[in-house]
Amino acid sequence: MKINKTVKIKAIKGSIKKWKHILFNNSIDYGTNNCPLYHRFLNKKTINACKLCPVYKVTGLNYCCGSPYQKWSNHQSIIHNKFFPPFEIFDTTKPQAATLSRYGRSGMQLLYQRVPGTTSCLKCTETARQELFFLQNLITCKTRRRKFKK
Ligand SMILES: [Zn+2]
Repeated sequence: MKINKTVKIKAIKGSIKKWKHILFNNSIDYGTNNCPLYHRFLNKKTINACKLCPVYKVTGLNYCCGSPYQKWSNHQSIIHNKFFPPFEIFDTTKPQAATLSRYGRSGMQLLYQRVPGTTSCLKCTETARQELFFLQNLITCKTRRRKFKK
């Protein structure tokens, strides 16, 4: 697979779209399952599986460690007791995940459906915004770097 600039930008834009939907349309973060960057750049054959990903180029770490995504997932586990995706901006009017576990999977899915206009967790919103900003910067910084070289 050849990775040129267009392919890279397209994947970054795909991830930007994902986070815009999480922020503004109550969309869900399915982790790597709905990450265009992951799908484009992951290489399981090497130890540094994410080495080709633009996020890795900034952080030097695999699986979004060192990026705002780490803050987002840490917050989800520490505050909302969710240790694996799916993650979403938590609706503070809903009970916490730990208290939901007794309803079983189908009950949880039902209860996790957010109603637009209800109270969103501020920290979820903040970390999701940071992730979006980080991804947007991957494009603008690239442009700046290119201009600088000339
Ligand atoms: Zn939260």
